[in-house]
Amino acid sequence: MDDTKNVGGRDRLVRFLLAAVLSIVSVRWLRSGKRVRGLLAGVGALGFGYNATTGYCGVNDALDVDTTGESEEVSIEFDESDDPTSGPSDEAEGKKKQRNQLTCAACGDPIVPGQSRGPNADDDIVHDGCA
Ligand SMILES: [Zn+2]
Repeated sequence: MDDTKNVGGRDRLVRFLLAAVLSIVSVRWLRSGKRVRGLLAGVGALGFGYNATTGYCGVNDALDVDTTGESEEVSIEFDESDDPTSGPSDEAEGKKKQRNQLTCAACGDPIVPGQSRGPNADDDIVHDGCA
């Protein structure tokens, strides 16, 4: 039974408070005739109350979250692949630079796509006008 517990520490305390607040709000809304809101708040209160008393939450279970640990910190593992030294934006930037690195061997100016160019006598790519 202990294996199913995944709500603890601060998480459990917050759920207790939410259950208490929602039950108060629910009663107020039901008394003032706001039945749908009152019922929803009541359901929420029961849900959080259930989590807090049993220490089990289906949502936590589905998300593989366990807050019963000593640290009281939610143990969600973040994807740390966002390394600034080899980010995907840098890679794209590098490819863009390489694509624009084609320069005329004769005048040294970059040859932009669409410009007519071709190999000269030394087999270097130059502008058609520079060959
Ligand atoms: Zn040129």
